[in-house]
Amino acid sequence: MGTAKAAVNRERRKSREIFERGEKVLVGGVNSPVRAFRSVGGDPLVMERGLGARIYDADGNEYLDYIGSWGAMLLGHAHPAVTAAIVEQAQRGTSYGATTELEVELATRITRAVPFIEKIRFVSSGTEATMSALRLARAFTKRDLVVKFEGCYHGHADSFLSQAGSGLATLGIAACPGVPQALAELTLNAPYNDLNAVERLFALHSGKIAAVIVEPIAANMGVVQPEAGFLPGLRELTRKNGALLIVDEVITGFRLHFGAAQTLLGVEGDLTTMGKIIGGGLPAAAYGGRAEIMNLVAPLGAVYQAGTLAGNPLAMRAGCATLEALSAPGKYEALNALAEKFVTELRQVLAKSGVPGHINAQGSLATLFFCDGPVRNYDDAKRSDTARYANFFREMLNRGIFLSPAQFEAMFLSMAHTPEDIAATVAAVRESLQALRT
Ligand SMILES: *Cc1c(COP(=O)(O)O)cnc(C)c1O
Repeated sequence: MGTAKAAVNRERRKSREIFERGEKVLVGGVNSPVRAFRSVGGDPLVMERGLGARIYDADGNEYLDYIGSWGAMLLGHAHPAVTAAIVEQAQRGTSYGATTELEVELATRITRAVPFIEKIRFVSSGTEATMSALRLARAFTKRDLVVKFEGCYHGHADSFLSQAGSGLATLGIAACPGVPQALAELTLNAPYNDLNAVERLFALHSGKIAAVIVEPIAANMGVVQPEAGFLPGLRELTRKNGALLIVDEVITGFRLHFGAAQTLLGVEGDLTTMGKIIGGGLPAAAYGGRAEIMNLVAPLGAVYQAGTLAGNPLAMRAGCATLEALSAPGKYEALNALAEKFVTELRQVLAKSGVPGHINAQGSLATLFFCDGPVRNYDDAKRSDTARYANFFREMLNRGIFLSPAQFEAMFLSMAHTPEDIAATVAAVRESLQALRT
């Protein structure tokens, strides 16, 4: 893994050829809309392999990867221990439709790291985790309404698709067709960081709100941090009104330290969802919380929720190997120190460039918004100049840096990024911002 990058071949002939074939048989040539290049122009890259902090497209171009499968690859691509675990498990069979010790092991690792999660149910995607957590909260409280925050994303289940952050914002979708009006009416939106708005909703819908769901650090409208008092305020409001607090840690779980972001932020939700990192790059996610609530889920209770591939042995092995590697001393300290240096240097470069911009960052999550700060909610984020972001994205891509093809996402740093990678990226940002001015 040399640090000197070969010049990127901008024609990407093979990527284009594969993508054109893909468009005939895959919707938009992608299996998740956030992978499309709609808002930045050009065809999406077709990826062939990844190693550490780098990914390689079908034309053999090398990129420093700041998507990392949208945060899942905290250890970087093809981490040796994770790869070995997957290979070993594959030789024993990949799915049984029966319980394995691996599920117990991964659940034990997670509950030890996050003690207020007493019991867990594994599912295959973050979408399933949040959808199931909401069903459970509705059953537990015998209420129907849910409060979410504008710009927060909780997967693509019907109840969460209004004002739901990056994927929809990038495509200009405010309300999703196909979601029954009757169901959409059960979802209430409030601006992120606005406790008064939540208080008003509780007053207006007294005794009817089952749950408030929140990203503890929003990362799907770009990174937006909770202001002091916001999360504790939600905790207090939900408790006072007999509603549950669902903390969606699908991105933040195990991202900032070995455990939940909630622990760092001084709040404990009734239910927590996780995904991305805990599957080590394979499809696994989870919801969990106090036993008193979780015991309502089938087979102990009547809240039905199931999955043929839930707790899949390959994914559980990858998850266990990932958490094992993450629990080694100093891993997070090194990552967070590197991230802090990265963000400090980005801020300096941005300030010198004269390009209006604002950087929100927490640990290894960061967003450069092309607007003047501060950015404390979705309305602020939407003031960003997305055309300028598109140009920035292309300038960076041509310098071998793979960022999200949308303004409203985080840059994900991994533990495989090195100080040299960071220096190369900062240099590319300096040049790209310069290019935007000319
Ligand atoms: C990615 C994400 C989800 C959805 O997870 P999938 O595995 O893509 O279904 C839910 N919540 C948050 C906060 C996410 O970032």
